[in-house]
Amino acid sequence: MEMLEAMVRAQELRDLLNYHSNKYYVEDSPEIEDDEYDALQRELVLIETRFPSLITPDSPTQRVGGSAEGMFEPVVHTVPLESLQDAFSLDEVTAFDSRIRAEFPDVTYAVEPKIDGLSVALEYENGLFVRGSTRGDGSVGEDVTANLRTVKSIPLRLKRDIPFIEVRGEVYMPRKVFARLVEKQEENGEKTFKNPRNAAAGSLRQKNPEITASRELDIFVFNIQRTSEEGITGHRQSIEFMRSLGFRTIPVCAEARNADEIIEKIREIGESRPSLAYDTDGAVIKTDSFAYREQIGSTAKFPRWALAFKYPPEEKETIVTGIEVTVGRTGVLTPTAVFEPVFISGSTVSRATLHNQDFISEKDLRIGDTVVIRKAGEIIPEVVRVTAHAEGSEPYLLPDVCPSCGTKVIREEGEAAVRCVNPECPAQLLRNLIHFCSRDAMDIEGLGDSVLEKLVDAGLVDKISDIYTLKKEDFLTLEGFKDKSSENLVEAIEKSKGNDLSKLVFALGIRHIGQKAGKILADKFRTMDALMNADIEALAGIDTIGGIMAQSVIDFFAVEQSRREVEALAALGVNMNSLKEQIDDRFAGMTFVLTGTLPTYSRNEASEIIEKFGGKTASSVSKKTTYVLAGEEAGSKLTKARELGITVIDENEFNSMIQ
Ligand code: NAD
Repeated sequence: MEMLEAMVRAQELRDLLNYHSNKYYVEDSPEIEDDEYDALQRELVLIETRFPSLITPDSPTQRVGGSAEGMFEPVVHTVPLESLQDAFSLDEVTAFDSRIRAEFPDVTYAVEPKIDGLSVALEYENGLFVRGSTRGDGSVGEDVTANLRTVKSIPLRLKRDIPFIEVRGEVYMPRKVFARLVEKQEENGEKTFKNPRNAAAGSLRQKNPEITASRELDIFVFNIQRTSEEGITGHRQSIEFMRSLGFRTIPVCAEARNADEIIEKIREIGESRPSLAYDTDGAVIKTDSFAYREQIGSTAKFPRWALAFKYPPEEKETIVTGIEVTVGRTGVLTPTAVFEPVFISGSTVSRATLHNQDFISEKDLRIGDTVVIRKAGEIIPEVVRVTAHAEGSEPYLLPDVCPSCGTKVIREEGEAAVRCVNPECPAQLLRNLIHFCSRDAMDIEGLGDSVLEKLVDAGLVDKISDIYTLKKEDFLTLEGFKDKSSENLVEAIEKSKGNDLSKLVFALGIRHIGQKAGKILADKFRTMDALMNADIEALAGIDTIGGIMAQSVIDFFAVEQSRREVEALAALGVNMNSLKEQIDDRFAGMTFVLTGTLPTYSRNEASEIIEKFGGKTASSVSKKTTYVLAGEEAGSKLTKARELGITVIDENEFNSMIQ
């Protein structure tokens, strides 16, 4: 390779690596596989080794990981969170041992699984967790303390109150949690995380710790960054020490005395990988003695006393024999590739999800194609790429009608998924029934998952309105039902007929219309008829009902079966009107915030009055607030109202407004 050619290629590689690095570390949404990324990186290292003058200080080969993106407060790492030197062959492992042994003949190592998550530092003062941060670029990370507090295996207090310790560990998402999350994202037609690592990173770097908490992250701690304790001289000893403090430490930390033993441990860890509850992408070999580590030192990017052996991803070729399309519980159509069975990463597989039309089109996957399969995170089979199209094949397109009920499917703007919105679609029936009867919806006590399943199986219910045709005798035909329990159910069903319109609107399971939106729509339109016939302008014009919700209501009622169902419910005696008394709409479009104690009204009473006159209440003061109704001991809301110049009224003034 000529210098000029090398220069052009190096620049090209740098641009590519920077682009993918941003996708991976900042957006948590990589577009290429890790081994493809590693291959690009290795190519750049080779060029830079041959032509050292081409090395730039900002080259991806000189940098650790991602960056601190500004979403969180920066944390300067006192001890840098270094990366690891990669090895892709066992020869490199042997060479690593020889290099160190030449200087330290009695060296021993620790061999650990390399957990595929994201690195964090946890700081404790006097035994208390005080700060947690991401690795970032190694020198500056992000303060994610609040989110890390939600990780249950991170101790908030150590077993002993030592003055100071900072440890490093890998936060990860267990495979099962990942599989559940992807299933849910797919059902909701949301963008899915590509693998557990990205899911963990995306979950930890959230503004709202509640989201992080819901993702059930876990941690393995594997290093002491710094501590006030003395007398810890080696790695394996440090792991024991951290465990004694209550940390969840790396599960395997095997001793190896020479290259053969290292390789044996690498094999053992490799064999265990498919059966682990979490993803690993390699084995890390570390010089055990801290004194030796110090003498061996580090490069700008990684320690010279450690090495990360990366397991090659197992890939197999096979032929796609068909594409099956199923309808999920929320109506999303999910395509699955069916292929000739292949044995891969510990089991035989013959199916892989194709997610959605975009995924299929991007790969131009067709029936009959030869494809490469691998297991993402060693567990979920996936199609990596197409190697050859079958002769005479055509690009594959998802059906435009639901395979279960034949209704035309829709694709919402900005969504990857197509979905069937027919409420009577058999594929969605049970889920819709469960939602319909649930407490916040029609609140039919006793009509839960298992009873509904029995009713559907017995052919007694095949659409929502059938619930209101059920008689005592019908329940008696079901296993486990006696006189009394059947009567109770019939009674509960009868009672639900009188619910307010808002409960029914929510119960219909219109996408994006939750409990609150149900109330707003019921208050605004007051009858089901008016809601069903509302146009998009009327819907989208309502404060807090956005364009997406409005469109969803329109789509729902555009389906003939939805209208028929509502009519059937009305004919069976289900209330179709808002029961909320409205005197007039003098407060229409106004938002009140209540604060302090009012002389005569309770908060609820005041809210009810406001709603009766068509107004709304909100819990915090903003520019959108019309009035702040303040009583005794009003606090920060009053201050905020004054700052924003919002009109503050007392109960007397309020009373005169409602005369
Ligand atoms: P790395 O993942 O290769 O190794 C360093 C990391 O290993 C450390 O941050 C540490 O947290 C972790 N680790 C896990 N278990 C450990 C243990 N027992 N002991 C010590 N460390 C342990 O390096 P990196 O710099 O974080 O990232 C490079 C990786 O990211 C590569 O695998 C690369 O393929 C991938 N990547 C992929 C893309 C893409 O687009 N697909 C883009 C950028 C990076």
